[in-house]
Amino acid sequence: MLRLIACILPHGHRLMGSLYHFKNMMKQYSSDLLPTIIYHCNNCYSSIEKSSKTCPSCGKSLTRTGAVAYFLQLKIVSQLASLWKNSEFCDMVRNHRFQHIEKYKGRRLADIYDGILYQKLFRDNGVLSNANNISFSLNTDGAPLFKSSNISVWPVYLLINELPIAHRKKRMNSLFYGVWISSSKPQMWSFLKPLFEELKLLESDGHLFTDYFGEVFNCKCVLLTCTCDLPARALVYNCLQFNGDNSCWHCLQRGETYKHETGGISHNFQYDEHDPKGPPRTKESVNLDVDKVMDNVRRNVTQSSVNGHKGRFWFMYLETFDYINSCIIDYMHGVCLGVVKTLLTIWFDKKNKDKNSSFFSKRGLVNCVLQEIKPTIFVSRIPRALDEISHWKSSEYRNFLLYWGIPILRYVLDMELYTHFCLLARSIFLLSKEGVAFDELQTAESALLLFVEHFQILYGERYMTFNVHQLVHLTDCVRHTGPLYVNNCFIFEDLNGYIVKQIHSTQGVDTQLTNIISMLRVPSRMYTLYLKDTTNQEAIDLYNELSDSVTARYKQLDEIEDGIRPLGSATWKHYFG
Ligand SMILES: [Zn+2]
Ligand SMILES: [Zn+2]
Repeated sequence: MLRLIACILPHGHRLMGSLYHFKNMMKQYSSDLLPTIIYHCNNCYSSIEKSSKTCPSCGKSLTRTGAVAYFLQLKIVSQLASLWKNSEFCDMVRNHRFQHIEKYKGRRLADIYDGILYQKLFRDNGVLSNANNISFSLNTDGAPLFKSSNISVWPVYLLINELPIAHRKKRMNSLFYGVWISSSKPQMWSFLKPLFEELKLLESDGHLFTDYFGEVFNCKCVLLTCTCDLPARALVYNCLQFNGDNSCWHCLQRGETYKHETGGISHNFQYDEHDPKGPPRTKESVNLDVDKVMDNVRRNVTQSSVNGHKGRFWFMYLETFDYINSCIIDYMHGVCLGVVKTLLTIWFDKKNKDKNSSFFSKRGLVNCVLQEIKPTIFVSRIPRALDEISHWKSSEYRNFLLYWGIPILRYVLDMELYTHFCLLARSIFLLSKEGVAFDELQTAESALLLFVEHFQILYGERYMTFNVHQLVHLTDCVRHTGPLYVNNCFIFEDLNGYIVKQIHSTQGVDTQLTNIISMLRVPSRMYTLYLKDTTNQEAIDLYNELSDSVTARYKQLDEIEDGIRPLGSATWKHYFG
């Protein structure tokens, strides 16, 4: 890449010729953004020195693979300090939310600002009504590092809600707290402690930053929501996994273990027609239950969990954090990879061939139609046949639900099942809209309740899994935090994928990650240093092309050959005028 850039630079340029020099140059810009690495014994989780051969606490050897867990952690304030130096950032953060709220005036739910959680902290001179204060959406989700090893990474990101959605999702604008690397699940009590300590201070006192204009000001930050998949949610909130009793974070329904004919078991929730969404879990009930757990622990009770709680979690000590409603029901995992996948399996999977032969016999027809579809440019994937369903990505399930399902299934399902599917498609469509009207929320909620109730009647008790149950809470989740397109794991998949892709070998993962993470922050810093006042349009265009805003557009371009797409300003003009 360096050699390529050198080709187009004028003669006598001073661009370095080697990666080594390039990295050294980058370090100048990111020295204060280098992560701290904290090592742990994977047996007893006490912290250890990198060079230790045996654990000082439990005495286990630390030399075998997988014996050491560690996490990299970056200071949130140094990253924020760097962002506040960018004029565009200052402008967006200080203006966007007010313009949005003025535009919609609470008439529609169009973004997180229209949700109950944001409004609570905005109205009546709330903390977020001050243009210098901001709020975060946290995400964590495990991703396997290499297919060949069982090591996985758990990055934690914070998005800044006050940025317009397109900017909020950009890699350079998101805050990267840290990443846990281990063959075992993260110990959130140690992993999230430094983050909690920073958030606690940012929430109560704020921090003094200097903005682009050189003005010193105080900025307070609050944690508003957490978007995680189910395993990560259980860790962050320290509650039982989705296969345990009382595992629903939004209500106190207990659920029960269901034994399948095939021998497997699942934890299922029957539809309660008298109180489908309740009894509700509240901040008060959580506090009481957690106290009981702590009491059980002190008294050495073997089964110490109470109503699904396993103990305390860091974020319960944040003043403004709404424990219950902050927890986003992620529709990527829950609906697309959950309910939609289940339905497609019931209808078309070979293992249900005899039981559901009437659907299975139409598999060929479905395949035919799927492959005939020519989607418009906003759908990035061409539909694939059911034979490839094991490779379908979450977005392909989403496309099936929202776009292809209704026209195709008309010829496959009987009227009752078809109408039932339409209830789901319709309600998810409504809840994903950019600007959901309040009567549409009502429609979506009634449709979802009907869908869950009839799921049991049409497909049987065995399919009443957690994913089906949590649909009853989905509309409330949207009421609190905004439409589904705002908070979901689709946004973070890209970020996670980026990190995983940059790690090339199992050796020295910590050093590789340190490099990647400091690099993440460099473009915006170099922009501030070199380009913020420039009038050289070509330089700005080049920067924009190289920064990640381009990635989305890049993906839409046709491949010339396998994996090769055209790039460069001529191409943009050609494709996008
Ligand atoms: Zn140990
Ligand atoms: Zn529930």
